[in-house]
Amino acid sequence: MSEPTLDNCENEPIHIPGSIQSHGFLIAVDEAFTIRYCSENIRFFLDISAPDLLGKKLSEIDIFDQKSNEQLFSLINLADNQNGSGQQHFRQTFNDRHFNVVVNFHHKHYTFDFEPADGGLEQDIQTLIGRSLSEILSDSNLNRLLNNAASQIKKIIEYDRVMVYKFHDDGHGEVVAEAKIDEIESWMGLHYPASDIPKQARELYKINLVRLIADVHSTPAALVTDGKAVPLDLTHSTLRAVSPIHIQYLKNMGVASSFSVSIMDHGKLWGLIACHNYTPRFINFRERESAKLVGQVLSSAISFREQEEDQHHAVGHRQAVETITRYLLRNIAVEDALINQDYNLKDVLDCKGAAFYFENTLHVTGDVPDEEFIYKLIKWLDEKTYADGYYMSPRLSEDFDLAKHHRLNASGLLACRMGKDLNEYMLWFRPEVKSTVKWAGKPEKIQQVNEKGILHISPRNSFQEWSEQVELTSLAWKKHELDAALSLRDEVNYAISRKATELRIINEKLREAYAELDTFSYTISHDLKNPLATIRSYAQLIKRGLMDTEKNISMAERIEKGTEKMQAMIDEVLAYSKAGQARLETKAINMQRLLEELRHDLLVSANNPNLKIEIKESPEIYGDEMMILQVFSNLMGNAVKYSKKSVPSLVSVTGIKSDNEVVYAIEDNGIGIPKDQHTSIFELFARATASNEFEGSGVGLSIVKRILEKHNGNIWLDSQPGRGSVFFVSFKRYDSLHQLN
Ligand code: ADP
Repeated sequence: MSEPTLDNCENEPIHIPGSIQSHGFLIAVDEAFTIRYCSENIRFFLDISAPDLLGKKLSEIDIFDQKSNEQLFSLINLADNQNGSGQQHFRQTFNDRHFNVVVNFHHKHYTFDFEPADGGLEQDIQTLIGRSLSEILSDSNLNRLLNNAASQIKKIIEYDRVMVYKFHDDGHGEVVAEAKIDEIESWMGLHYPASDIPKQARELYKINLVRLIADVHSTPAALVTDGKAVPLDLTHSTLRAVSPIHIQYLKNMGVASSFSVSIMDHGKLWGLIACHNYTPRFINFRERESAKLVGQVLSSAISFREQEEDQHHAVGHRQAVETITRYLLRNIAVEDALINQDYNLKDVLDCKGAAFYFENTLHVTGDVPDEEFIYKLIKWLDEKTYADGYYMSPRLSEDFDLAKHHRLNASGLLACRMGKDLNEYMLWFRPEVKSTVKWAGKPEKIQQVNEKGILHISPRNSFQEWSEQVELTSLAWKKHELDAALSLRDEVNYAISRKATELRIINEKLREAYAELDTFSYTISHDLKNPLATIRSYAQLIKRGLMDTEKNISMAERIEKGTEKMQAMIDEVLAYSKAGQARLETKAINMQRLLEELRHDLLVSANNPNLKIEIKESPEIYGDEMMILQVFSNLMGNAVKYSKKSVPSLVSVTGIKSDNEVVYAIEDNGIGIPKDQHTSIFELFARATASNEFEGSGVGLSIVKRILEKHNGNIWLDSQPGRGSVFFVSFKRYDSLHQLN
């Protein structure tokens, strides 16, 4: 066996070791069932030597009895269908010794592992397993669950030490539960460096959920081939020999047998149930399968619990993000929503301080490093390229050296870049948390140069407990925290773009308002000029004192009328501007009641026996009741007013509901309006030419139009002089109006 070198340690092809553990033997055939590989130790089990078998067809050799032959071929079929996943086995007896034959199909070869069927255990596995599973699942606390699992596995396989070994994110492991015999010291809480179980070994633990090293002191049995065959891939073989580095590692620990069961969480290797025995102890296939079952149940229990925990955190984070989102919806600046509230950016994640760098300005909250440092950090982040627009580390100083001077508030950092092309960030800082990690021996591997001058590496042989003071490190950032940060980033980005749009809309409205103000001031100056001129001329006449008392009185009366008219106009202007400013208090309005009341009031005030007001369909409208009343009061009032000379004077109101809107038509048989004035009548103080003999100010329709605009509705008309008019008003149905507010 070649010397393991530093080069080949991480790359050591441990799946093709060329040998197997010698407590069993192996035969491998190709797809034509010709024997291509055989372990040389077959001669200790059967009266055959390996080279004699090579090149023969499986059917030509008579090692299997009739029954086994049938079983073998049915298993081959099964292995074919399962394409290597899941192991099949059957029992076979040779020279009064019982064997389990485990069949695998991998890389165009069927591999048969022959291993002893007799375990050292005399127990009723079935009952034991049943009891174990209910025992394991009886506790909902994760620590107790893991300890339970360790004790139950210990009962099944009767090993000296059973540990639950959890992999941390950086690959190093920690003993998180343990069951052991009294005579040995506890390893609970000890950490093991990632190099103790290299990456490729961890990959194999994902494929083979159980792994037995039956006796570290036994000599492996080499595989014999015809010399032409490539090394056999033993990934799936239960007998696969162990890496010499690992054997030495176990020997250094004083371990004679090692057994492990993988604990998986959503396809990832969460950890191992690692078992050690200080004397060789073989565990047969059935017992291993039972332990595997316990491992699988434990895996699902852990996955379930972690998922539950994740969900719990996710709910908390969602509420945090929602709170900030509510601030973002307020009419305040984005930085105010994130920073200047009782509940702010730093409260979204478990941290002491946070910062928001937006539009070249830094905003901070809580315990953060000084600004000079943050600006340098931002510059460093700008130059860094990172996937998904975030940087997250509990050890910032490893990547950004300056951070080591800010350990008290910036040992850990989570930074989210706001946009791909924007150097704007949300930053969360975490302080240093000093802790002591108890390592099982110094984490370095020992490198030596051998006599040929090749640098080689031997597994560590010191397992003396060694404490390491962990510094410049914060609490780790969890996946659910990153998710929360990213979802907040989306909300903030959304708010920023919404505010930009709002600003555009506000600008647009401002422009409209200016334009309106222009007409407004023109109209006011123009329309108020008439009564003012009247007042002035009459006042001058009175001043001259040329008139007798009677005339003076009549002029004073005209002055009074003039001021009344001005007052009325001013009131109307106020009403108009009020309609523009008032906030909508929307609800579903019972139109039938509203229209009936209006009808009644109009009939009373018109005092016209010829007048008929008919209310037909009256579907409900979603809007501000006072304003809607103003709309119908104006339109029906006009209809009554401008048809009062018709005999009979007919006014009708009806509403039609469609998918998106409700349209009301207010019809009369009055004087009508010339087509060229259908638009102008909606302007302030504008009146159609024919309406001079009717009382009015020309403000009503402009108020109606404003109210409709506020309701996201429309107004239009159909009218001809002498033929009457129909005014149509449309209102959006509930949903769209709801969005509007
Ligand atoms: P006014 O106080 O003059 O009625 P409005 O703003 O309500 O003011 O209406 C503006 C003008 O539109 C009216 O002066 C009138 O010329 C015309 N008008 C409104 N409604 C009718 C109608 N039903 N029939 C004929 N003309 C109408």
